[in-house]
Amino acid sequence: MHDPKLSHLTTADPALAALIEGETQRQHDKLRMIASENYVSAAVLEATGTVLTNKYSEGYPGKRYYEGQQFVDQIETLTIERAKALFGTDHANVQTYSGSPANLAIYLAFLSPGDTVMTMSLAHGGHLTHGSPVSITGKWFNPVHYGVERETGRVDMNKVRELALAERPKMIICGGTAIPRTIDFPAFAEIAQEVGAILMADIAHIAGLIVGGAHPSPVGFADVITTTTHKTLRGPRGAMAMAKAEYATVVDKAVFPGLQGGPHNHTTAGIAVALHEAAQPSFKDYAAQVVANSKALAAALVEHGFDLVSGGTDNHLILSDLTNKGIGGKPAAKALDAAGIELNFNGVPFDTRRPFDPSGIRLGTAALTTRGLTEQHMPQVAAWMDQAIEAAVKEDEAAYARIAGEVKDLLDGFPMPGHAL
Ligand SMILES: *Cc1c(COP(=O)(O)O)cnc(C)c1O
Repeated sequence: MHDPKLSHLTTADPALAALIEGETQRQHDKLRMIASENYVSAAVLEATGTVLTNKYSEGYPGKRYYEGQQFVDQIETLTIERAKALFGTDHANVQTYSGSPANLAIYLAFLSPGDTVMTMSLAHGGHLTHGSPVSITGKWFNPVHYGVERETGRVDMNKVRELALAERPKMIICGGTAIPRTIDFPAFAEIAQEVGAILMADIAHIAGLIVGGAHPSPVGFADVITTTTHKTLRGPRGAMAMAKAEYATVVDKAVFPGLQGGPHNHTTAGIAVALHEAAQPSFKDYAAQVVANSKALAAALVEHGFDLVSGGTDNHLILSDLTNKGIGGKPAAKALDAAGIELNFNGVPFDTRRPFDPSGIRLGTAALTTRGLTEQHMPQVAAWMDQAIEAAVKEDEAAYARIAGEVKDLLDGFPMPGHAL
């Protein structure tokens, strides 16, 4: 059952309440390994479900366009101070609605339409908002892309430098959605400096690892940093844009009034709670455990013959090319879901198949770490994945229910935040 209880909702709208209860139980019973997902605490859920959703507060603390900001100003200021302290940045904007608008705000802050931006290609692990042709960032700007090497699955920083010198981008973005290896922020900063580009680090996936000390920080290297708050950082759906002091005003003006209207104050409050939780000593343990689990899972998958992009992982994320398993990423992901293991199909670098039917799967260990699983469980997780994929290849659909039952039996021993018996 959902925790906090949905007592009012159950009376007012039983149909919707039942659907939310169904989703709660689904999240409880499945091994959730979508690399961008997590479980927020019940405290974060409470903060996001408050009367703060009633309030309009266009502007920034102390400079609003509406009255009645006695508490909202304090809430936003507290959130900003927590973000600055936790990440060690000069400036933080906590109003960005989500990762994509946060990124667009940074384009607006520093670029004009047609300007060149250099980013990791989507096919090699970048994000749609890093200049994909289907995104506004690809339609209105001029993206040039770096990627990984075929043999190593890693970025060659010498090639990034060569491309930057040839293309002279106005902005360089590092970070992405399917990068299993450590990002070399100092090397990116050196290249950006050499070509006079703004360096933006998009740390959406790894923000929780960074503040937990399990991945190097871009602070001091990147001019601006964007992050979602709902991935490894374990907050509500939302985002932040952080910057060096000299860019504080241009970033704030781009977010509001450049791109957005009123901030979502209930989300800001949820972010404040998540930042407070991330400042506790136990969050360091969580971040270290996420990486330990990911490495243990990668090693176990390799033993089962899985072909991992770059051969392994440094962070929470694993990318596997399933070509040698004789199955595409999409049918594999569907089979795994039926077997109680939730992840997504994903392209791999140099993929010969199409984006909607690619060769690989992407998975991560943040949510299962929040649930309490450790390295000792990872060989079992890898074995279930292998069994489900083998079952899909042999069209042995009966195996899915057996595996899903075993998954649920394991997870029954690990309480889920947001769920109560
Ligand atoms: C998730 C993600 C985003 C976008 O976040 P949304 O909240 O889905 O808009 C942007 N950049 C990167 C690198 C991401 O992983």
